[in-house]
Order: sequence, then structure tokens, then C-alpha cells
Amino acid sequence: MTNSDTFDYDLFVIGAGSGGVRASRIASQLGARVAIAEDLYLGGTCVNVGCVPKKLFVYASHFREDYEAAKGFGWSHGDISFDWNTLRDSKTQEIQRLNGVYDSILSNAGVEIIHGRATIAGKNAVTVGDKTYSAKNILIATGSWPRKPSYSGAEYTIDSNAFFYLEQLPKRVIVEGGGYIAVEFAGILNSLGCETELVYRGSLFLRNFDNEVRSFVAEQIQKKGIKLSFNSQIQKITKNEDGSLNVDVECQKADGAHSQTQQVDAVVTAIGRKPKSENLGLESVGVEQKVDGCIAVNDNFETSVPGIYALGDVIGRMQLTPVALAEGMALARYIFNDQPININYDNIPTAVFCQPNIGTVGYTEEHAKELGYQLEIYKSTFKPMKHTLSGIDERTFMKLIVDKESRKVLGVHMVGPDAGEILQGIAIAIKAGATKEDFDSTIGIHPTAAEEFVTMREPVS
Ligand code: NDP
Repeated sequence: MTNSDTFDYDLFVIGAGSGGVRASRIASQLGARVAIAEDLYLGGTCVNVGCVPKKLFVYASHFREDYEAAKGFGWSHGDISFDWNTLRDSKTQEIQRLNGVYDSILSNAGVEIIHGRATIAGKNAVTVGDKTYSAKNILIATGSWPRKPSYSGAEYTIDSNAFFYLEQLPKRVIVEGGGYIAVEFAGILNSLGCETELVYRGSLFLRNFDNEVRSFVAEQIQKKGIKLSFNSQIQKITKNEDGSLNVDVECQKADGAHSQTQQVDAVVTAIGRKPKSENLGLESVGVEQKVDGCIAVNDNFETSVPGIYALGDVIGRMQLTPVALAEGMALARYIFNDQPININYDNIPTAVFCQPNIGTVGYTEEHAKELGYQLEIYKSTFKPMKHTLSGIDERTFMKLIVDKESRKVLGVHMVGPDAGEILQGIAIAIKAGATKEDFDSTIGIHPTAAEEFVTMREPVS
């Protein structure tokens, strides 16, 4: 057995995103000698080209409706205008501030930051540039990267990384995909004033969400002006001299396939993310990967090579920042504090920041049925109080899925303003095993939309 002192580091982390930063910071606080290598930006996707700038853009885009709504409350204002460059550059400044915060967090925790691309050079060796470092443990936390479409003209598309740095806002845009990113981006673009169409290959977007949530969201965002083209796929893109794009879209209808060419200024793709596991030297040491390129790990995040670990997007469990954070913390405590890893992937709440938001925790009705539960379903659809005066035609939807036998609330879903904020609290109750009666005996906070969750008395089915 080699003594840990014979290595340069106790832990060498590749990738300074959410999971890698958390693991290295905690490991260092537990007394380990830690280095972290990063060749792009500190904070990873979430901070730089994901959750954080996306949320800032969502805030920015919502002002259009807020200005409109204000009129119903007596406010008047002159012409409003929007400047994309101001938003983009203010966002970039804030991201740069956060990069600095991450640098300080790591440095203050005693983690050595190595800027450059790292590859695994041996079971206990990592190379960055012309230097090779030895480490008792290696953690791969390289995250994921937007998947590129394969059709002709794909080089004209913009992925979620480039979206945050667009030179100018397109007048007409197609967003391709039907997951979190596509729906959020379509909402941002539409609310910023772009003529927006979402093209999705399936019959209804947001697969794996509750079916009623999916159709309710489709209804709400269509009312706000987003054109939804389902059962549709982009076949080809060509570029015109003026920079606009001709996009061939094939749509499957009852009577067969129909093709149409549309002219837009930009196509933004959000068709999933692939693990960043290429050119890392994994093959050289025998780290096993799954067919989709994700790194295979056991329950302790250990790869097929003892002492080499992986977590976060690159292992493909759940591509969510809070999950990577939990995994990073658990792994550091496991390696350096002998604490067993005990992450429960059940009942992880999530939100989609479309407008209105989706907030969700637990089972969908469809999944609960598949699992054989006898269910009571509670639902409520209403006009939020603000919109009684705002003149905005937007409704809220709430749904509780209850196991008839145990009375446990198995799933809670909401589409409405601040659904993400509301569901975080509800998720604690679900995690704690709350029953419908616990919901019923909770006094509401009045007047809020959230109180509806504790006042739904009659099951609808
Ligand atoms: P998702 O996996 O959520 O969705 C991918 C979408 O692209 C699906 O609608 C999928 O269709 C479609 N698609 C896949 N391949 C193709 C293809 N070849 N041609 C056309 N369409 C295709 O990925 P996203 O890119 O939206 O987001 C990545 C991950 O990032 C999410 O899974 C989520 O975990 C995370 N994320 C979380 C956010 C949040 O918490 N708010 C925000 C943004 C991202 P189909 O359904 O038919 O497979």
C-alpha cells in the first residue's frame, strides 16, 4: 500500500463545475491536499452557461408582461424598449463576478487551482499541459456538453452555450427540442419580443412530466405567443446571403409527412446534453463507460478503476446542479471522513423556468399508476389573483397525487408564478412522508396561490 504522502495530492479533481468544486472544497476542509483542474471557466455549466444566466434572462424577459400588467393597477408609462446588449453584458459581468467568488471559495479552502486541460495519465496520475501530478484519488467531474444535431446545416445552429452570448437578438427564431432547456429558452426569447417557434419531434413536449402539466403548459405558453410545432423535425438548414436561414421542417400528420421551409434569423438547439468523457485518457487506464459515453460508477461513485471516481452530469444519473452538489459533498465525506454515501434520488424536486413556471416533486399520475398505486387525484385550476386586474390571460394549475391506501402524497405538481419557489417547501413535506391529511390540517397562508395546496378537499378522480 502506497503512503498518501508519496503523492502530490490526496485528491485531484478534473472539472470545476458544481460537483467538482463542492467535492474539492469539502475534501480540503477535511484535511485532504486537493488540486482542481479546469480548462474553461470556474463554476461549470450552471454558473456560466446554464442555471444562473438562464434565470437572469428569465427575469429580464418577464418585464415585458410586468409592464403590461402594471397598467391594470393604474400605472402608466411611455414606450418601453429593450436593449439586448445591456442584458447580455450585465449578465456576463455578473458571471465574471461569480467566477471570482468561486476562485476565492476554492483558494480560501486551500484547494490548488490548476488552469488547463487535464487528462488521466495513469491510475494515480493526471497530466495538465507539460506537467504530471500524482494523486491518491482522482475525481472526474467534467460535466456535459450540448448535443449537436446531425442534419445538413447544423453548423448554423446555436447551442445553449452560444445562446448566452448572441451578438444580437433574432427577430424570428426556431427553438429545437422539447426538454427543460428548449421550453425555458422559448419562453425567454418570446418574452423578449422574438417571433418564436418551438419544434419538437414528439407529440407533446416535456416527456416524463405529468401529462396534464405538459398539456397545461402547452396551452399557457401558446397563449403568450409561442408557436408549438409538435411531431416535427428539422431536416436541413441553408443560409441566405443576408444571414437568414431557410429551415426545412418535416411534420408528421394523420395523412402523412408534410414538409415546409421556414425563414428565420436563428435556430437554437436544445436536444439534450452528452457527457464530457472524450479525450480524458479513460481508455488508457480502463475506466469503463456506458454506451452513451457516461462513466459507469458504483454506489460510491467509484469507477471500474479503484481510486478513480466520477460524479455529476458525466455519470448521467440526473443532470441537475443540486444533485451534483450532493454527490460531491457525499463523496468527499466518504473518502476523507469514512462516512457512508447515502444519497436518496427519490423525490428530487425540480422546476422548469418557463413562463409560468413548472414546479414538481414526486410521481406523476402516469408513473404512480404504472407502479400499481390506487390513487386519489386532487386538482385546481384558477386565475391567479394578480391577473384579475392585470388583464393577462394566464392560469395556474395544481395537482396532488395521493395513495389511497397509505394516504401519502406521492406527487405534487404546479404550473404557475413562482412554482419553483413554492415546490421547494412542499418537497420537504413529501420527503418527510406527508399524508393528504397532513396537507389538510395545515393552515393556509392567505391570500396566496400556495394555500390552494392545503385546501383541495374533493378528489376529482
Ligand atoms: P432534455 O434531456 O431535458 O431534453 C432533450 C430534448 O431534446 C427532448 O425533448 C428530446 O426529445 C429532444 N431530442 C433528443 N435528441 C433529439 C434529436 N436527435 N432530434 C430532435 N430532438 C431531440 O435536455 P435539455 O437539453 O433540455 O436539458 C439537459 C438537461 O439539463 C435536462 O435533462 C435537465 O436535467 C438539465 N436542466 C435543468 C434545468 C432546470 O432544472 N430548470 C434547466 C435546464 C436544463 P424526446 O423527449 O423525444 O427524447
